[in-house]
Amino acid sequence: MELLLANCIHIKGNIKRNRMKYNILWMRRDLRLEDNAALYRALKAELPVQPIFIFDTNILDKLTDEKDGRVTFLHDTVTELDQKLQGKGSSLQVYYGDPVEVMKTLSADDDLQAIYTNKDYERYAINRDEKVAKIFTAKGKEFKSYKDQVIFEYDEVTKDDGLPYTVFTPYKRKWMAKLESRMKTPMDVSYYFKSYPTEKYFKNLKATNATEIPTLKAMGFQRSDLDMPTKTVAQGIIKEYDKQRNFPAIEGTSRLGLHFRFGTISIREKARKAQQLNETFLSELVWRDFYSMILQHFPHVETDSFREKYDYIEWRDSESDFKAWCEGKTGYPIVDAGMRELNSTGHMHNRVRMIVASFLTKHLLINWRKGERYFAEKLLDYDLASNSGGWQWAAGCGTDAAPYFRVFNPYTQADKFDRHRKYIKKWVPEVDTDDYVEAIVEHKFARERCLEAYKSGLAKADS
Ligand code: FAD
Repeated sequence: MELLLANCIHIKGNIKRNRMKYNILWMRRDLRLEDNAALYRALKAELPVQPIFIFDTNILDKLTDEKDGRVTFLHDTVTELDQKLQGKGSSLQVYYGDPVEVMKTLSADDDLQAIYTNKDYERYAINRDEKVAKIFTAKGKEFKSYKDQVIFEYDEVTKDDGLPYTVFTPYKRKWMAKLESRMKTPMDVSYYFKSYPTEKYFKNLKATNATEIPTLKAMGFQRSDLDMPTKTVAQGIIKEYDKQRNFPAIEGTSRLGLHFRFGTISIREKARKAQQLNETFLSELVWRDFYSMILQHFPHVETDSFREKYDYIEWRDSESDFKAWCEGKTGYPIVDAGMRELNSTGHMHNRVRMIVASFLTKHLLINWRKGERYFAEKLLDYDLASNSGGWQWAAGCGTDAAPYFRVFNPYTQADKFDRHRKYIKKWVPEVDTDDYVEAIVEHKFARERCLEAYKSGLAKADS
């Protein structure tokens, strides 16, 4: 709170010194100066633009790990943005507090005309933005928000009758058709992927002095030891994506999840590249739009099963089994390798995410919500829509879910996708020694127990 007040006083000081009408760009999940829809529109409007960022205490106060990698990443990104803006004679004004309170303070400035921002589709963000918009409109000021985080918003790709898709393949077909329909005429080639050439208008940034960015320590955090994935991806990775993406021992995926999460890269730019280089990679970006769309239309998936019937399943919820899973000590090498990769790096390969999620929900009969929460704490690329979608897919209760009686066999999965056990040996070096733990449950027994529990849960739902 003190930090927030200190910044407000500073802002007030600025306002008194140079009275000039201006607009604010409120940066949230779009932390870049290039190809940024709201920044572009703000800079093209007639008034100088002041970029701001708020370290949101409603989110930060809930984080339990003081070395949370996402906070370090945010802090570094915000510091870098501020330096870039200072190089252009402006700065990023940084606040720490409840965004609604910060916005109330800012809205009191008569010289401030409008807020420009990019849309965020999570429930918390929607509610927050509604409150902020009300504060501004009550003062006769505008709150303008734009699509930037996805290619197509939730109501842009629907069935012919306007209802939302709940299965991926037809959604993807329509998504691609919509894109291609615009691309038939050369004029429209870049319609949906168009870039926003912000750099042309940087002269319209508001000239300001730098404010002090709160340190990690002042916010109750410490620097994380995790290595952050870079924004640049070797072109070969995208070109060979369809052939390599399923093998966790190969560096065959982009690791861009964290950058998409915080908007440090532009989804349009990556989709344009994907379209030229690899259709399978583009398809993965469509999954991202798909889950974002599902979250908008079916907000209950944030906490509950998309298929409500599955909430009748009686989970075992064994604490000791959950602990073994979290620690990578289940005695199933591919599962343990994945969990140890996650715990050590903040990342887990997609194929292995599917295996460990299936193992937790089906082999151990532990509620998918517990796994979802664990991933939410640990993943650098944690994203509510994709995480809930991925977990529910694995548990069988989501959109597109495989029938529940299809239970992944972790041994055959490992044979198929880590044939030389390179990935397993990297993360579970003791795998072939007496030091390695015994399997906590036998595969065949677990499979049958799972089928029984799912069958009776679904029967209960129907009765
Ligand atoms: P790449 O394979 O290089 O793909 C590029 C991008 O496409 C990703 O960064 C991501 O934005 C998007 N993408 C790829 N696969 C999917 C998918 N299945 N669903 C949605 N988007 C996708 N993804 C997240 O971004 N955040 C999560 O919290 C998350 N949790 C998951 C939980 C489970 C149980 C499962 C099975 C999947 C989850 N995924 C999640 C999807 C996927 O595993 C990750 O996006 C991917 O592994 C990230 O690695 P990458 O950046 O190298 O992806």
